[in-house]
Amino acid sequence: MAEMEILGAKISDYDMVETVCSAAALIDVGRQAAGGEPMLHQIVTLNAEILYKAQTDERLLAVINQAELVTPDGSGIVMAAQKLCNRQIERVTGIDLMQELCRQSAACGWQIYLLGAKPGVAEQAGQNLRDQYGSLICGCHDGYFNEDEQAWIIGEINEKKPDILFVGLGAPRQEFWIAENRSRLRVPLVIGVGGCFDVISGNLKRAPQVFQRLGLEWLWRLLKEPWRFGRMMALPRFAMLVNRQAKAKKRLAEANQRQMTDGRREKKLPQ
Ligand code: UDP
Repeated sequence: MAEMEILGAKISDYDMVETVCSAAALIDVGRQAAGGEPMLHQIVTLNAEILYKAQTDERLLAVINQAELVTPDGSGIVMAAQKLCNRQIERVTGIDLMQELCRQSAACGWQIYLLGAKPGVAEQAGQNLRDQYGSLICGCHDGYFNEDEQAWIIGEINEKKPDILFVGLGAPRQEFWIAENRSRLRVPLVIGVGGCFDVISGNLKRAPQVFQRLGLEWLWRLLKEPWRFGRMMALPRFAMLVNRQAKAKKRLAEANQRQMTDGRREKKLPQ
């Protein structure tokens, strides 16, 4: 896989088509694991807010880096890839990836379990997905449960044998939840999708296309959910951090270049 390292996180440069192919391969490999039990693979859809948080949370960075695939979800990551790695990459957001995998499910025969959001929301999202793509949802549960209920839910997920488990508990809670339950879940592919069930169920409107195209989805969310202001302060901080790193990288490259030129000049000098 073509990977870039951005602020300590290994992020894929795959576009949507390549990401879906890679997800399909992870499902196949997970299904064919030795011993008969599916082996879990994880995809993280990473945005700037969470990557910024991971700068001061080693455990979170480790959880991100243990995923088999990390997609660039958000214009902040796309900007960082350009500035720090000189790479033009495409956003692969959680909601687009989820929709795309659901669309592929019909052809591939994948079954899907939805875990997360307030009671009734995952059911409604599941119903809307069934209406759109056929009978791909094998189960769903809300995201508000205690330890005892959690054991029951994991049992149910394993019994239903989904190919893909979408976990919508919000980031980074869902990434920690997946990491903590890796050894208990018998699912080939698990993906954290934040508030996607709220959007797919119709309870929350996604940013209009124009906001998405301009990379301003965060502004739409801020207008709709002003309580996000505190959390969103991570975005300008992330941009400043990326700029500082880009300048430091440039200075280092210039210093190396100077050293090489001086070295060449010295070699040419008569003994
Ligand atoms: N949520 C949940 N259980 C919890 C806390 C949150 O299922 O204990 C759900 C919440 O109902 C919402 C989603 O997690 O559907 C969080 O959405 P948000 O948009 O905040 O997440 P993000 O997309 O920013 O990661």
